[in-house]
Amino acid sequence: MKDEIVCLPTLAEEMGKKLPSTLEALISNGIELAEIEKLVEDAGTDILEIASFPLRRARLKAPILKPSKIVCLGLNYEDHAKERGKATPDEPIFFMKPRTTIIGQHDQIVKPSFVSQLDYEAELAVVIGKRAKNVSASGARSFIFGYTILNDVSARDIQFKDKQWTRAKSFDTFAPIGPSITTKNQVRNVSDLKIHTWVNNELRQDSTTAFMAFNVFEVVHHISHVMTLEPCDIISTGTPAGVGFALKPKPQFLQEGDVVVIEIEDLGTLRNTVINEDQLDS
Ligand code: MG
Repeated sequence: MKDEIVCLPTLAEEMGKKLPSTLEALISNGIELAEIEKLVEDAGTDILEIASFPLRRARLKAPILKPSKIVCLGLNYEDHAKERGKATPDEPIFFMKPRTTIIGQHDQIVKPSFVSQLDYEAELAVVIGKRAKNVSASGARSFIFGYTILNDVSARDIQFKDKQWTRAKSFDTFAPIGPSITTKNQVRNVSDLKIHTWVNNELRQDSTTAFMAFNVFEVVHHISHVMTLEPCDIISTGTPAGVGFALKPKPQFLQEGDVVVIEIEDLGTLRNTVINEDQLDS
Protein backbone atom coordinates (compact mmCIF):
# COMPACT_ATOMS: atom_id res chain seq x y z
CA MET A 1 0.00 0.00 0.00
CA LYS A 2 3.02 2.28 -0.12
CA ASP A 3 2.40 5.56 -1.96
CA GLU A 4 -1.33 4.85 -1.99
CA ILE A 5 -4.06 6.97 -0.47
CA VAL A 6 -7.04 5.29 1.16
CA CYS A 7 -10.20 7.37 0.88
CA LEU A 8 -11.82 6.84 4.28
CA PRO A 9 -15.34 8.04 3.40
CA THR A 10 -15.38 5.59 0.44
CA LEU A 11 -14.03 2.78 2.60
CA ALA A 12 -16.65 3.45 5.29
CA GLU A 13 -19.44 3.56 2.72
CA GLU A 14 -18.36 0.21 1.26
CA MET A 15 -18.69 -1.18 4.78
CA GLY A 16 -22.14 0.29 5.31
CA LYS A 17 -20.84 3.05 7.59
CA LYS A 18 -20.46 6.79 7.28
CA LEU A 19 -17.47 9.07 7.90
CA PRO A 20 -17.26 12.85 7.36
CA SER A 21 -15.86 13.94 3.99
CA THR A 22 -13.13 16.19 5.44
CA LEU A 23 -10.37 15.59 7.94
CA GLU A 24 -11.36 18.71 9.84
CA ALA A 25 -14.90 17.38 10.31
CA LEU A 26 -13.52 14.01 11.34
CA ILE A 27 -11.36 15.59 14.06
CA SER A 28 -14.04 18.07 15.17
CA ASN A 29 -16.64 15.30 15.49
CA GLY A 30 -14.35 13.60 17.99
CA ILE A 31 -14.10 10.34 16.08
CA GLU A 32 -11.50 8.21 17.85
CA LEU A 33 -8.42 7.07 15.97
CA ALA A 34 -8.95 3.53 17.26
CA GLU A 35 -12.35 3.50 15.57
CA ILE A 36 -10.83 4.41 12.21
CA GLU A 37 -7.94 2.00 12.56
CA LYS A 38 -10.40 -0.79 13.31
CA LEU A 39 -12.43 0.10 10.22
CA VAL A 40 -9.31 -0.12 8.02
CA GLU A 41 -8.26 -3.36 9.71
CA ASP A 42 -11.69 -4.92 9.17
CA ALA A 43 -11.86 -3.92 5.50
CA GLY A 44 -10.97 -6.81 3.23
CA THR A 45 -8.51 -6.54 0.33
CA ASP A 46 -11.35 -5.91 -2.13
CA ILE A 47 -12.71 -2.93 -0.23
CA LEU A 48 -9.23 -1.52 0.34
CA GLU A 49 -8.60 -1.71 -3.40
CA ILE A 50 -11.84 0.09 -4.23
CA ALA A 51 -11.05 2.87 -1.73
CA SER A 52 -7.37 3.31 -2.71
CA PHE A 53 -5.66 5.29 -5.44
CA PRO A 54 -2.03 6.21 -6.19
CA LEU A 55 -0.56 9.21 -4.37
CA ARG A 56 0.89 10.50 -7.67
CA ARG A 57 -2.64 11.05 -8.94
CA ALA A 58 -3.52 13.31 -6.00
CA ARG A 59 -2.87 16.98 -5.39
CA LEU A 60 -2.33 17.35 -1.67
CA LYS A 61 -3.91 20.34 0.02
CA ALA A 62 -2.81 21.46 3.47
CA PRO A 63 -4.15 18.83 5.87
CA ILE A 64 -5.92 21.51 7.92
CA LEU A 65 -7.29 24.53 6.06
CA LYS A 66 -9.35 26.40 8.63
CA PRO A 67 -8.06 25.96 12.17
CA SER A 68 -9.53 28.43 14.65
CA LYS A 69 -5.95 29.50 15.35
CA ILE A 70 -2.28 28.87 14.70
CA VAL A 71 -0.11 29.46 17.76
CA CYS A 72 3.66 29.62 17.24
CA LEU A 73 6.54 29.36 19.68
CA GLY A 74 9.56 31.65 19.60
CA LEU A 75 13.06 30.66 20.75
CA ASN A 76 12.07 27.13 21.70
CA TYR A 77 15.25 25.35 20.54
CA GLU A 78 18.50 25.64 22.47
CA ASP A 79 20.62 25.59 19.29
CA HIS A 80 18.54 28.37 17.65
CA ALA A 81 18.57 30.53 20.80
CA LYS A 82 22.35 30.12 20.84
CA GLU A 83 22.81 31.20 17.20
CA ARG A 84 20.77 34.31 18.08
CA GLY A 85 22.96 34.97 21.14
CA LYS A 86 20.01 34.51 23.47
CA ALA A 87 18.99 32.11 26.23
CA THR A 88 15.84 30.03 25.96
CA PRO A 89 13.04 31.68 27.96
CA ASP A 90 11.89 30.37 31.36
CA GLU A 91 8.31 30.29 30.04
CA PRO A 92 7.30 29.67 26.41
CA ILE A 93 7.05 32.81 24.28
CA PHE A 94 4.28 32.59 21.73
CA PHE A 95 2.55 34.55 19.00
CA MET A 96 -0.04 33.79 16.34
CA LYS A 97 -0.36 33.52 12.58
CA PRO A 98 -3.72 33.94 10.83
CA ARG A 99 -5.09 30.89 9.01
CA THR A 100 -4.97 32.81 5.72
CA THR A 101 -1.21 32.06 5.74
CA ILE A 102 -1.83 28.34 5.11
CA ILE A 103 -0.74 26.62 1.91
CA GLY A 104 -0.03 22.94 1.21
CA GLN A 105 2.53 20.62 -0.33
CA HIS A 106 4.02 21.99 -3.60
CA ASP A 107 2.10 25.30 -3.28
CA GLN A 108 4.12 28.46 -3.86
CA ILE A 109 5.40 30.80 -1.15
CA VAL A 110 4.72 34.32 -2.45
CA LYS A 111 7.46 36.86 -1.75
CA PRO A 112 5.83 40.30 -1.37
CA SER A 113 7.43 43.03 -3.49
CA PHE A 114 8.48 45.10 -0.47
CA VAL A 115 10.05 42.23 1.46
CA SER A 116 13.79 41.79 0.92
CA GLN A 117 14.70 39.32 3.68
CA LEU A 118 12.48 36.27 3.23
CA ASP A 119 13.39 33.32 5.45
CA TYR A 120 12.29 29.76 6.30
CA GLU A 121 11.81 28.08 9.71
CA ALA A 122 11.30 24.30 9.86
CA GLU A 123 8.94 23.43 12.70
CA LEU A 124 7.14 20.45 14.14
CA ALA A 125 3.44 21.33 14.40
CA VAL A 126 0.92 19.83 16.80
CA VAL A 127 -2.67 19.30 15.62
CA ILE A 128 -5.13 19.49 18.50
CA GLY A 129 -7.76 16.74 18.65
CA LYS A 130 -9.94 17.79 21.58
CA ARG A 131 -10.94 20.99 23.33
CA ALA A 132 -8.22 21.70 25.89
CA LYS A 133 -8.26 24.20 28.75
CA ASN A 134 -5.90 24.18 31.75
CA VAL A 135 -4.46 20.77 30.97
CA SER A 136 -1.41 19.32 32.70
CA ALA A 137 1.74 18.44 30.78
CA SER A 138 1.36 14.82 31.84
CA GLY A 139 -2.21 14.71 30.50
CA ALA A 140 -1.62 16.78 27.34
CA ARG A 141 -1.06 13.84 24.98
CA SER A 142 -4.74 12.85 25.05
CA PHE A 143 -5.68 16.26 23.55
CA ILE A 144 -3.35 15.85 20.57
CA PHE A 145 -4.58 14.33 17.29
CA GLY A 146 -1.24 14.20 15.50
CA TYR A 147 1.73 16.03 14.08
CA THR A 148 2.75 17.69 10.83
CA ILE A 149 5.42 20.01 9.43
CA LEU A 150 4.96 23.79 9.34
CA ASN A 151 7.33 26.24 7.64
CA ASP A 152 7.07 29.46 9.69
CA VAL A 153 8.00 31.70 6.75
CA SER A 154 9.21 35.08 8.00
CA ALA A 155 10.05 38.50 6.55
CA ARG A 156 13.12 39.34 8.66
CA ASP A 157 13.39 42.96 7.57
CA ILE A 158 9.86 43.57 8.85
CA GLN A 159 10.31 41.39 11.96
CA PHE A 160 13.38 43.33 13.11
CA LYS A 161 11.86 46.69 12.21
CA ASP A 162 8.58 46.00 14.05
CA LYS A 163 10.33 44.26 16.98
CA GLN A 164 7.45 41.77 17.14
CA TRP A 165 6.17 39.07 14.87
CA THR A 166 2.65 39.65 13.64
CA ARG A 167 3.18 41.59 10.41
CA ALA A 168 6.39 39.75 9.47
CA LYS A 169 4.83 36.30 9.72
CA SER A 170 1.25 36.90 8.61
CA PHE A 171 1.51 37.34 4.84
CA ASP A 172 -0.64 35.01 2.73
CA THR A 173 1.28 31.76 1.94
CA PHE A 174 3.65 32.17 4.96
CA ALA A 175 2.55 28.87 6.55
CA PRO A 176 3.15 25.88 4.28
CA ILE A 177 1.77 22.84 6.17
CA GLY A 178 2.00 19.16 5.33
CA PRO A 179 2.48 16.86 3.55
CA SER A 180 -0.11 15.18 5.81
CA ILE A 181 -0.85 14.58 9.47
CA THR A 182 0.88 11.68 11.17
CA THR A 183 -1.40 10.52 13.97
CA LYS A 184 0.24 10.55 17.39
CA ASN A 185 0.34 6.76 17.72
CA GLN A 186 2.41 6.52 14.51
CA VAL A 187 5.18 8.73 15.91
CA ARG A 188 7.78 6.81 17.88
CA ASN A 189 9.06 9.57 20.15
CA VAL A 190 7.97 13.12 19.36
CA SER A 191 10.73 14.47 21.60
CA ASP A 192 13.46 12.82 19.51
CA LEU A 193 12.77 13.36 15.80
CA LYS A 194 15.42 14.44 13.30
CA ILE A 195 14.57 17.72 11.55
CA HIS A 196 16.23 18.93 8.33
CA THR A 197 15.85 21.80 5.88
CA TRP A 198 17.41 22.09 2.43
CA VAL A 199 17.30 25.15 0.21
CA ASN A 200 18.08 24.19 -3.41
CA ASN A 201 19.57 20.91 -2.10
CA GLU A 202 21.90 22.73 0.31
CA LEU A 203 21.49 21.50 3.89
CA ARG A 204 20.62 24.43 6.15
CA GLN A 205 18.94 23.02 9.27
CA ASP A 206 20.12 19.74 10.81
CA SER A 207 18.78 19.24 14.29
CA THR A 208 16.43 17.22 16.47
CA THR A 209 13.29 17.91 18.46
CA ALA A 210 15.31 16.73 21.49
CA PHE A 211 16.75 20.29 21.56
CA MET A 212 13.35 21.85 22.36
CA ALA A 213 13.34 23.91 25.56
CA PHE A 214 9.67 22.99 26.14
CA ASN A 215 8.47 19.70 24.67
CA VAL A 216 5.12 19.45 22.88
CA PHE A 217 3.26 18.39 26.03
CA GLU A 218 4.65 21.28 28.09
CA VAL A 219 3.75 23.62 25.23
CA VAL A 220 0.13 22.42 25.13
CA HIS A 221 -0.02 22.74 28.92
CA HIS A 222 1.25 26.34 28.91
CA ILE A 223 -0.89 27.56 26.00
CA SER A 224 -4.04 25.91 27.41
CA HIS A 225 -3.62 28.01 30.56
CA VAL A 226 -4.00 31.11 28.40
CA MET A 227 -6.52 30.20 25.70
CA THR A 228 -8.90 27.33 25.04
CA LEU A 229 -7.42 25.07 22.39
CA GLU A 230 -10.01 23.72 19.98
CA PRO A 231 -10.03 20.69 17.66
CA CYS A 232 -7.86 21.32 14.55
CA ASP A 233 -5.93 24.18 16.17
CA ILE A 234 -2.29 24.13 15.16
CA ILE A 235 0.66 24.77 17.45
CA SER A 236 3.98 25.31 15.74
CA THR A 237 6.72 24.51 18.21
CA GLY A 238 9.62 26.72 17.11
CA THR A 239 12.61 26.26 14.84
CA PRO A 240 16.12 24.88 15.40
CA ALA A 241 19.42 26.47 14.32
CA GLY A 242 20.29 27.18 10.69
CA VAL A 243 17.76 29.80 9.62
CA GLY A 244 18.89 32.01 6.73
CA PHE A 245 19.48 35.23 8.64
CA ALA A 246 21.81 33.52 11.15
CA LEU A 247 24.05 31.83 8.54
CA LYS A 248 27.79 32.51 8.58
CA PRO A 249 29.74 34.17 7.06
CA LYS A 250 26.68 36.04 5.86
CA PRO A 251 22.89 35.73 5.92
CA GLN A 252 21.16 34.10 2.94
CA PHE A 253 17.56 34.93 2.19
CA LEU A 254 15.04 33.22 -0.06
CA GLN A 255 14.72 34.38 -3.65
CA GLU A 256 12.36 33.61 -6.48
CA GLY A 257 12.77 30.03 -7.72
CA ASP A 258 14.29 28.73 -4.48
CA VAL A 259 13.04 25.32 -3.42
CA VAL A 260 12.61 24.78 0.33
CA VAL A 261 12.43 21.17 1.48
CA ILE A 262 11.77 20.31 5.12
CA GLU A 263 11.91 16.78 6.43
CA ILE A 264 10.95 15.61 9.91
CA GLU A 265 11.44 11.98 10.86
CA ASP A 266 8.12 10.06 10.83
CA LEU A 267 6.26 13.08 9.37
CA GLY A 268 7.48 13.12 5.77
CA THR A 269 8.79 15.88 3.51
CA LEU A 270 7.27 19.29 2.81
CA ARG A 271 8.37 20.98 -0.42
CA ASN A 272 7.55 24.53 -1.59
CA THR A 273 8.96 26.93 -4.17
CA VAL A 274 9.28 30.70 -3.83
CA ILE A 275 7.67 33.01 -6.39
CA ASN A 276 7.74 36.81 -6.58
CA GLU A 277 4.42 38.56 -6.04
CA ASP A 278 4.67 40.29 -9.43
CA GLN A 279 5.03 36.93 -11.20
CA LEU A 280 1.57 35.83 -10.05
CA ASP A 281 -1.20 35.68 -12.60
CA SER A 282 -3.52 38.51 -11.76
MG1 MG B 1 9.06 30.12 14.15
